[in-house]
Amino acid sequence: MMHQPSASQSQVIGILGGGQLARMLCMAAARLGHGTVVLDPDALAPAAQVASAFLHAPYHDPDALVKLVSMADVVTYEFENVPVETASALAERVPVLPGPLALAKAQDRLVEKRFLGSLGIPTASHVAVDHVGELDDAVQRLGGSAVIKTRRFGYDGKGQARVTGPLDPGAAEAVFRSLGVDPALTGAGTAGALIVEAMVAFEGEMSVIGARDLHGTVRCFPPARNVHRDGILSTSSVPSGWGSVVEAAAVAHTTTLLHALEYVGVLGLEFFVLPAGSGTPEVEGPSDRLVANEFAPRVHNSGHWSEVACVVSQFEQHVRAVTGAPIVDPGFHSPCEMFNLIGEEVGLVPDLLSQERTSVHLYGKAEVRPGRKMGHATRLS
Ligand code: AMP
Repeated sequence: MMHQPSASQSQVIGILGGGQLARMLCMAAARLGHGTVVLDPDALAPAAQVASAFLHAPYHDPDALVKLVSMADVVTYEFENVPVETASALAERVPVLPGPLALAKAQDRLVEKRFLGSLGIPTASHVAVDHVGELDDAVQRLGGSAVIKTRRFGYDGKGQARVTGPLDPGAAEAVFRSLGVDPALTGAGTAGALIVEAMVAFEGEMSVIGARDLHGTVRCFPPARNVHRDGILSTSSVPSGWGSVVEAAAVAHTTTLLHALEYVGVLGLEFFVLPAGSGTPEVEGPSDRLVANEFAPRVHNSGHWSEVACVVSQFEQHVRAVTGAPIVDPGFHSPCEMFNLIGEEVGLVPDLLSQERTSVHLYGKAEVRPGRKMGHATRLS
């Protein structure tokens, strides 16, 4: 039986994962008078500095999970790789929001694409590949160049290879190995199985951050135009500049997804935007210039600008939804650009602090590493 949270005033929100997303959720929760308890295996997790309570333990530690459940009125998470079994077990004791269905659909790229397709949301044409011998045929069927991804546990462009066929058996094996997959161990349903996607010739990338509350009300933030560098989000700009027809279609797809998942909380749905008037051979589904790539059942990096450009941020919207409070129109008021501070870019902070209309947000990470998200800044335009 899934428990539902009450809309009482002050609650304790349990959060699985203590990265920057959890940190910002904790800050939003505190503003609404709620406490937080964060579980993370890293003692230096960014959220540990701001949570009301911090449990330093592995995610599957039974004692830690019992403690989390005993302290929290509702449990949420900041990353999509929470084991579905863990989420379902917790849901027997305390509301877990968003529910396990969203996790189950988001954790496997093949399941995710099929689910999006079943909702009439276009995706890149794709083929599941479980064995080395199937790879070349899959790439040829998709037009000769493809993006190959691990079905599970990929993030920020990790677990991804780009190939142009034909691929002889040696090259196919090398692709498997480059993705960390042992060619000898693969098979349908194994963690190592791959998805091969048609290379989408997109004009740009867009995301919609949407929220749904316990009563089924949906509110979306205005779509953002995103630029990735090395597979990692670099900038998000709002408005997207793609115009009201494309933006309305993206919001409609996001709304469809939120309802289909009976979702409670905030999610991010990422799209490729095709050039106007282009044919769409590499796309499955009705063409509206949008090709859904993936969704994240959580607050999303491409919505961080909402902290300063909206009345209600994505973090507050998520806290509202999971505590049973109503969600509202975010009240977007300021066109803006958000840029991530990745690795050594954190050195720009002294300069950014002297710039007008620029908000700086750091995550409290002591160690700078290449590719590590250290913070972000949002400039209102
Ligand atoms: P992902 O690992 O799915 O989040 O993809 C990371 C980035 O790789 C995306 O933001 C795109 O820039 C690019 N990408 C992923 N899939 C495709 C595709 N099928 N066609 C072209 N580019 C892609």
